[in-house]
Amino acid sequence: MAYVSCNGVVLKRTKVGDNDAILTVFTDNLGVIKVSAKGIKSLKNKSFAGASLFSYSYFTLRPAKDMYYLVSAELKMSFYNLSTNIERLAYATYIADITAYCFTENQAEPEALALLLNTFYLLANKSGDARQIKCVYELKLLYFSGIGIEAKVCLGCGAEKGLLYFTNEGGVLCASCHKKFPDSFKISQDAQKAIFYITNAENKKAFSFKVSERVLEELLYITEGFFTKYIDKKFYSLHYLNTILGKE
Ligand SMILES: [Zn+2]
Repeated sequence: MAYVSCNGVVLKRTKVGDNDAILTVFTDNLGVIKVSAKGIKSLKNKSFAGASLFSYSYFTLRPAKDMYYLVSAELKMSFYNLSTNIERLAYATYIADITAYCFTENQAEPEALALLLNTFYLLANKSGDARQIKCVYELKLLYFSGIGIEAKVCLGCGAEKGLLYFTNEGGVLCASCHKKFPDSFKISQDAQKAIFYITNAENKKAFSFKVSERVLEELLYITEGFFTKYIDKKFYSLHYLNTILGKE
């Protein structure tokens, strides 16, 4: 069978025996795929760097019945710095996990891949608050999965002002509509503005906003509740991250 090629990020590497590994790769044109990499643990393997965790590479693959086989992986961008900081590494591992969970094979998402690369870049270069990066990525990932947030007008009546409540149904609410949504809770105007900004800004611009510590705490709370409502899975990597951060 003919080879296929793609650009992709290695989200996960599972060891198989002494020399082999199964890679989970988020690609630009094949979605999230499994790739069997034989002899990849050897430093002499020409694809050693390209197939390492969090590498962004150009892959040549041989399709088989239930997975792909690695022919070569040429490194395009390394996020090696991620492994030098335990906290940022934990963030990246969680980000990789939720990405692998939310996308499937044959689901081409080049825009989401670009966002993931920006996210890894920011984490690897210690640029920006990692908590804020996580919020933005989670909201964007939900958006790419078809779950958006209405942050401009009230979800109940379309009012444009006084949007000081939030519901996990997916949007902001005015003071009179919030009573119709039992799960709704109060948010600040700055938090509403930040959500609006994140949901409307394109790709890497979505990360570049400044909020106070108090508003960031709000954003973390809102995003966590919203994300767990729609992504019904407990990620060990999140538990690990929270342990490192002293939250669990
Ligand atoms: Zn309303």
